[in-house]
Amino acid sequence: MMNLSSTMKAYGCRYCVSPLKQLLHTTNHHLRFRPRSPSLFSSSFNNLKLPNFNLLLTSNSLFFTMEHLWDRSGMNTNKKMVEHLQQYGVISSEKVARVMETIDRALFVPDRTPAYADCPQEIGYNATISAPHMHATCLQLLEEKLQPGMHSLDVGSGTGYLTACFAMMVGPQGRAIGVEHIPELVASSINNIEKSAAAPLLKKGSLSMHVGDGREGWPECSPYDAIHVGAAAPEMPQALLDQLKPGGRMVIPVGNIFQDLKVVDKNPDGSVSIRSESSVRYVPLTSRDAQLQS
Ligand code: SAH
Repeated sequence: MMNLSSTMKAYGCRYCVSPLKQLLHTTNHHLRFRPRSPSLFSSSFNNLKLPNFNLLLTSNSLFFTMEHLWDRSGMNTNKKMVEHLQQYGVISSEKVARVMETIDRALFVPDRTPAYADCPQEIGYNATISAPHMHATCLQLLEEKLQPGMHSLDVGSGTGYLTACFAMMVGPQGRAIGVEHIPELVASSINNIEKSAAAPLLKKGSLSMHVGDGREGWPECSPYDAIHVGAAAPEMPQALLDQLKPGGRMVIPVGNIFQDLKVVDKNPDGSVSIRSESSVRYVPLTSRDAQLQS
Protein backbone atom coordinates (compact mmCIF):
# COMPACT_ATOMS: atom_id res chain seq x y z
CA MET A 1 0.00 0.00 0.00
CA MET A 2 1.26 3.43 -0.92
CA ASN A 3 1.10 5.99 1.85
CA LEU A 4 1.89 9.49 0.67
CA SER A 5 2.70 12.52 2.77
CA SER A 6 -0.09 14.68 4.14
CA THR A 7 0.73 17.30 1.51
CA MET A 8 0.08 14.76 -1.21
CA LYS A 9 -3.14 13.72 0.51
CA ALA A 10 -4.68 17.03 -0.43
CA TYR A 11 -4.53 16.65 -4.20
CA GLY A 12 -7.80 16.61 -6.05
CA CYS A 13 -7.16 14.58 -9.16
CA ARG A 14 -3.79 13.07 -8.59
CA TYR A 15 -4.67 9.45 -9.00
CA CYS A 16 -7.37 9.58 -11.63
CA VAL A 17 -5.24 8.82 -14.62
CA SER A 18 -1.64 8.00 -15.24
CA PRO A 19 -0.71 10.96 -17.55
CA LEU A 20 -2.00 13.22 -14.83
CA LYS A 21 0.05 11.35 -12.27
CA GLN A 22 3.10 11.92 -14.41
CA LEU A 23 2.32 15.61 -14.58
CA LEU A 24 1.96 15.72 -10.82
CA HIS A 25 5.25 13.95 -10.33
CA THR A 26 7.06 16.39 -12.58
CA THR A 27 5.51 19.39 -10.83
CA ASN A 28 5.75 18.04 -7.33
CA HIS A 29 7.79 20.99 -6.02
CA HIS A 30 5.06 23.40 -7.13
CA LEU A 31 2.47 21.32 -5.41
CA ARG A 32 4.31 21.29 -2.11
CA PHE A 33 4.68 25.05 -2.35
CA ARG A 34 0.88 25.37 -2.73
CA PRO A 35 0.61 28.98 -3.93
CA ARG A 36 -2.60 30.60 -2.68
CA SER A 37 -3.35 33.08 -5.42
CA PRO A 38 -7.14 33.38 -5.78
CA SER A 39 -6.84 33.74 -9.54
CA LEU A 40 -5.79 30.14 -9.71
CA PHE A 41 -9.05 28.85 -8.33
CA SER A 42 -11.95 27.77 -10.47
CA SER A 43 -15.46 28.33 -9.18
CA SER A 44 -16.72 25.17 -10.86
CA PHE A 45 -14.09 23.02 -9.14
CA ASN A 46 -14.38 24.84 -5.95
CA ASN A 47 -13.16 22.46 -3.36
CA LEU A 48 -10.21 20.96 -5.10
CA LYS A 49 -7.19 21.46 -2.92
CA LEU A 50 -4.79 21.83 -5.81
CA PRO A 51 -4.65 25.40 -7.11
CA ASN A 52 -2.15 24.82 -9.95
CA PHE A 53 -4.20 21.99 -11.21
CA ASN A 54 -7.45 23.91 -10.94
CA LEU A 55 -6.09 26.28 -13.51
CA LEU A 56 -5.80 23.41 -15.95
CA LEU A 57 -9.26 22.19 -15.08
CA THR A 58 -11.00 25.45 -15.89
CA SER A 59 -10.85 24.54 -19.57
CA ASN A 60 -13.99 22.66 -20.58
CA SER A 61 -12.32 20.86 -23.43
CA LEU A 62 -9.59 19.64 -21.16
CA PHE A 63 -12.22 18.55 -18.68
CA PHE A 64 -14.05 16.47 -21.27
CA THR A 65 -10.76 14.93 -22.35
CA MET A 66 -10.12 14.09 -18.73
CA GLU A 67 -13.55 12.52 -18.38
CA HIS A 68 -12.61 10.07 -21.13
CA LEU A 69 -9.25 9.44 -19.55
CA TRP A 70 -10.90 8.74 -16.23
CA ASP A 71 -13.22 6.27 -17.89
CA ARG A 72 -10.31 4.59 -19.62
CA SER A 73 -8.25 4.58 -16.44
CA GLY A 74 -10.82 2.16 -15.02
CA MET A 75 -12.18 4.51 -12.33
CA ASN A 76 -15.60 3.25 -13.22
CA THR A 77 -16.93 1.67 -10.07
CA ASN A 78 -17.54 2.93 -6.57
CA LYS A 79 -15.37 0.14 -5.19
CA LYS A 80 -12.41 1.18 -7.37
CA MET A 81 -12.83 4.78 -6.25
CA VAL A 82 -12.64 3.68 -2.61
CA GLU A 83 -9.65 1.44 -3.31
CA HIS A 84 -7.78 4.36 -4.89
CA LEU A 85 -8.53 6.54 -1.87
CA GLN A 86 -7.20 3.77 0.37
CA GLN A 87 -4.18 3.20 -1.81
CA TYR A 88 -3.18 6.86 -1.55
CA GLY A 89 -3.76 7.04 2.19
CA VAL A 90 -6.79 9.34 2.10
CA ILE A 91 -8.87 6.57 3.68
CA SER A 92 -7.07 4.79 6.48
CA SER A 93 -9.99 3.33 8.40
CA GLU A 94 -11.93 0.20 7.49
CA LYS A 95 -15.14 1.77 8.73
CA VAL A 96 -14.84 4.77 6.40
CA ALA A 97 -13.95 2.47 3.49
CA ARG A 98 -16.98 0.31 4.22
CA VAL A 99 -19.43 3.20 4.42
CA MET A 100 -18.11 4.75 1.19
CA GLU A 101 -18.46 1.38 -0.51
CA THR A 102 -22.00 1.01 0.80
CA ILE A 103 -23.22 4.45 -0.27
CA ASP A 104 -22.73 4.51 -4.04
CA ARG A 105 -21.64 8.01 -5.11
CA ALA A 106 -23.23 7.49 -8.55
CA LEU A 107 -26.68 7.77 -6.94
CA PHE A 108 -25.84 11.30 -5.78
CA VAL A 109 -24.19 12.94 -8.80
CA PRO A 110 -26.18 14.37 -11.72
CA ASP A 111 -26.62 12.18 -14.80
CA ARG A 112 -23.80 12.16 -17.33
CA THR A 113 -21.14 13.30 -14.91
CA PRO A 114 -18.19 11.04 -14.09
CA ALA A 115 -19.42 9.78 -10.74
CA TYR A 116 -16.15 8.35 -9.46
CA ALA A 117 -13.65 10.93 -10.73
CA ASP A 118 -11.94 12.71 -7.87
CA CYS A 119 -13.46 16.11 -8.61
CA PRO A 120 -16.36 18.13 -7.29
CA GLN A 121 -19.32 18.15 -9.69
CA GLU A 122 -21.89 20.87 -10.35
CA ILE A 123 -25.30 20.07 -8.84
CA GLY A 124 -27.09 23.29 -9.82
CA TYR A 125 -27.99 26.37 -7.74
CA ASN A 126 -24.31 27.40 -7.66
CA ALA A 127 -23.48 24.37 -5.55
CA THR A 128 -21.30 21.30 -6.01
CA ILE A 129 -21.01 17.80 -4.62
CA SER A 130 -17.60 17.67 -2.99
CA ALA A 131 -14.80 15.58 -4.45
CA PRO A 132 -14.52 12.01 -3.13
CA HIS A 133 -11.23 12.78 -1.38
CA MET A 134 -12.90 15.63 0.54
CA HIS A 135 -15.77 13.37 1.59
CA ALA A 136 -13.25 10.76 2.68
CA THR A 137 -11.14 13.31 4.55
CA CYS A 138 -14.15 14.63 6.48
CA LEU A 139 -15.37 11.12 7.30
CA GLN A 140 -11.91 10.25 8.59
CA LEU A 141 -11.75 13.39 10.72
CA LEU A 142 -15.18 12.73 12.22
CA GLU A 143 -15.03 8.95 12.47
CA GLU A 144 -14.65 8.80 16.27
CA LYS A 145 -17.70 11.01 16.70
CA LEU A 146 -19.82 8.90 14.37
CA GLN A 147 -20.07 5.82 16.55
CA PRO A 148 -23.39 3.92 16.75
CA GLY A 149 -25.97 5.92 18.72
CA MET A 150 -24.27 9.30 18.28
CA HIS A 151 -25.85 12.47 16.84
CA SER A 152 -24.53 14.18 13.72
CA LEU A 153 -25.40 17.34 11.80
CA ASP A 154 -24.48 17.97 8.16
CA VAL A 155 -24.82 21.68 7.29
CA GLY A 156 -25.06 22.43 3.56
CA SER A 157 -26.08 18.84 2.89
CA GLY A 158 -26.44 19.37 -0.89
CA THR A 159 -26.87 15.96 -2.52
CA GLY A 160 -27.23 14.21 0.84
CA TYR A 161 -24.19 11.98 0.21
CA LEU A 162 -22.36 12.72 3.47
CA THR A 163 -25.55 12.81 5.54
CA ALA A 164 -26.28 9.30 4.26
CA CYS A 165 -22.76 8.17 5.20
CA PHE A 166 -23.15 9.68 8.67
CA ALA A 167 -26.50 7.93 9.10
CA MET A 168 -24.97 4.56 8.22
CA MET A 169 -22.18 5.13 10.75
CA VAL A 170 -24.36 6.27 13.69
CA GLY A 171 -26.93 3.57 12.85
CA PRO A 172 -30.61 3.31 13.68
CA GLN A 173 -30.08 4.28 17.35
CA GLY A 174 -28.29 7.48 16.34
CA ARG A 175 -29.45 10.62 14.54
CA ALA A 176 -28.18 12.09 11.28
CA ILE A 177 -29.61 15.48 10.37
CA GLY A 178 -29.00 17.26 7.06
CA VAL A 179 -29.76 20.98 6.67
CA GLU A 180 -29.71 22.70 3.29
CA HIS A 181 -31.18 26.06 2.32
CA ILE A 182 -32.15 25.26 -1.29
CA PRO A 183 -35.49 23.40 -1.13
CA GLU A 184 -34.95 21.78 -4.56
CA LEU A 185 -31.65 20.30 -3.37
CA VAL A 186 -33.30 18.94 -0.23
CA ALA A 187 -35.98 17.30 -2.39
CA SER A 188 -33.42 15.73 -4.73
CA SER A 189 -31.23 14.65 -1.79
CA ILE A 190 -34.21 12.74 -0.40
CA ASN A 191 -34.69 11.06 -3.80
CA ASN A 192 -31.00 10.16 -3.87
CA ILE A 193 -31.06 8.70 -0.37
CA GLU A 194 -34.22 6.72 -1.13
CA LYS A 195 -32.26 4.87 -3.84
CA SER A 196 -29.31 4.21 -1.53
CA ALA A 197 -28.45 1.80 1.26
CA ALA A 198 -29.46 4.52 3.75
CA ALA A 199 -33.11 4.43 2.62
CA PRO A 200 -34.36 2.37 5.61
CA LEU A 201 -32.82 4.90 8.02
CA LEU A 202 -34.62 7.74 6.25
CA LYS A 203 -37.87 5.80 6.42
CA LYS A 204 -37.49 5.05 10.12
CA GLY A 205 -36.51 8.65 10.94
CA SER A 206 -32.97 8.31 12.32
CA LEU A 207 -31.91 10.16 9.13
CA SER A 208 -33.76 13.34 8.18
CA MET A 209 -33.21 16.14 5.68
CA HIS A 210 -34.42 19.68 6.35
CA VAL A 211 -34.75 23.00 4.56
CA GLY A 212 -33.19 25.70 6.70
CA ASP A 213 -30.42 28.20 7.19
CA GLY A 214 -27.56 26.00 8.30
CA ARG A 215 -25.80 28.93 9.95
CA GLU A 216 -28.37 28.47 12.70
CA GLY A 217 -27.68 24.74 12.93
CA TRP A 218 -30.62 22.52 13.86
CA PRO A 219 -31.24 23.12 17.56
CA GLU A 220 -34.09 20.59 17.89
CA CYS A 221 -31.73 17.60 17.84
CA SER A 222 -28.70 19.24 19.45
CA PRO A 223 -26.21 18.79 21.02
CA TYR A 224 -24.24 16.93 18.35
CA ASP A 225 -21.23 14.66 18.65
CA ALA A 226 -20.25 15.50 15.06
CA ILE A 227 -20.96 18.56 12.95
CA HIS A 228 -19.84 18.80 9.35
CA VAL A 229 -20.18 22.01 7.37
CA GLY A 230 -20.02 21.62 3.59
CA ALA A 231 -19.72 25.32 2.75
CA ALA A 232 -17.17 27.92 3.86
CA ALA A 233 -18.19 30.20 6.71
CA PRO A 234 -16.65 33.69 6.70
CA GLU A 235 -16.11 33.19 10.42
CA MET A 236 -16.81 30.49 12.98
CA PRO A 237 -20.62 30.36 13.46
CA GLN A 238 -21.44 30.70 17.18
CA ALA A 239 -24.75 28.80 16.83
CA LEU A 240 -22.89 25.74 15.56
CA LEU A 241 -20.31 25.94 18.36
CA ASP A 242 -23.18 26.12 20.84
CA GLN A 243 -24.79 23.00 19.37
CA LEU A 244 -21.60 20.93 19.65
CA LYS A 245 -21.55 18.49 22.59
CA PRO A 246 -18.64 18.66 25.04
CA GLY A 247 -16.32 15.99 23.64
CA GLY A 248 -17.79 16.60 20.16
CA ARG A 249 -16.02 17.64 16.97
CA MET A 250 -16.90 20.00 14.14
CA VAL A 251 -15.19 20.05 10.73
CA ILE A 252 -15.78 23.35 8.96
CA PRO A 253 -14.12 25.31 6.17
CA VAL A 254 -13.58 28.91 7.30
CA GLY A 255 -12.57 31.88 5.20
CA ASN A 256 -13.51 33.79 2.07
CA ILE A 257 -11.01 33.65 -0.78
CA PHE A 258 -8.47 31.83 1.36
CA GLN A 259 -10.09 29.06 3.32
CA ASP A 260 -8.87 26.52 5.85
CA LEU A 261 -10.57 23.32 6.85
CA LYS A 262 -10.81 23.74 10.63
CA VAL A 263 -11.16 20.92 13.11
CA VAL A 264 -12.93 22.18 16.23
CA ASP A 265 -12.93 20.02 19.36
CA LYS A 266 -15.16 21.02 22.26
CA ASN A 267 -13.45 20.16 25.54
CA PRO A 268 -15.35 18.75 28.53
CA ASP A 269 -15.28 22.22 30.21
CA GLY A 270 -16.95 23.78 27.15
CA SER A 271 -13.83 25.50 25.81
CA VAL A 272 -12.82 24.76 22.22
CA SER A 273 -9.54 23.75 20.60
CA ILE A 274 -9.20 24.62 16.92
CA ARG A 275 -6.63 23.46 14.40
CA SER A 276 -6.29 23.87 10.64
CA GLU A 277 -6.25 20.65 8.64
CA SER A 278 -5.51 22.08 5.18
CA SER A 279 -6.24 24.82 2.65
CA VAL A 280 -9.47 24.21 0.77
CA ARG A 281 -11.91 25.86 -1.62
CA TYR A 282 -15.65 25.50 -0.90
CA VAL A 283 -18.75 27.42 -1.95
CA PRO A 284 -19.69 30.01 0.68
CA LEU A 285 -22.00 29.41 3.62
CA THR A 286 -24.28 32.32 2.90
CA SER A 287 -27.88 33.41 2.41
CA ARG A 288 -30.01 31.70 -0.22
CA ASP A 289 -30.37 34.94 -2.19
CA ALA A 290 -26.64 35.62 -2.22
CA GLN A 291 -25.95 32.08 -3.42
CA LEU A 292 -28.52 32.16 -6.20
CA GLN A 293 -27.34 35.58 -7.42
CA SER A 294 -23.62 34.78 -7.32
N1 SAH B 1 -21.58 18.48 1.09
C1 SAH B 1 -22.58 18.53 0.04
C2 SAH B 1 -22.74 19.86 -0.67
C3 SAH B 1 -21.57 20.79 -0.69
S1 SAH B 1 -21.88 22.31 -1.55
C4 SAH B 1 -22.30 17.46 -0.98
O1 SAH B 1 -21.15 17.04 -1.09
O2 SAH B 1 -23.23 17.08 -1.68
C5 SAH B 1 -22.38 23.34 -0.19
C6 SAH B 1 -23.84 23.32 0.06
O3 SAH B 1 -24.09 24.26 1.11
C7 SAH B 1 -24.70 23.76 -1.11
O4 SAH B 1 -25.65 22.78 -1.38
C8 SAH B 1 -25.34 25.07 -0.64
O5 SAH B 1 -26.65 25.24 -1.16
C9 SAH B 1 -25.33 24.87 0.87
N2 SAH B 1 -25.41 26.10 1.66
C10 SAH B 1 -24.74 27.26 1.50
N3 SAH B 1 -25.10 28.16 2.46
C11 SAH B 1 -26.03 27.54 3.24
C12 SAH B 1 -26.77 27.94 4.37
N4 SAH B 1 -26.68 29.17 4.91
N5 SAH B 1 -27.62 27.07 4.92
C13 SAH B 1 -27.76 25.81 4.39
N6 SAH B 1 -27.10 25.37 3.32
C14 SAH B 1 -26.21 26.23 2.74
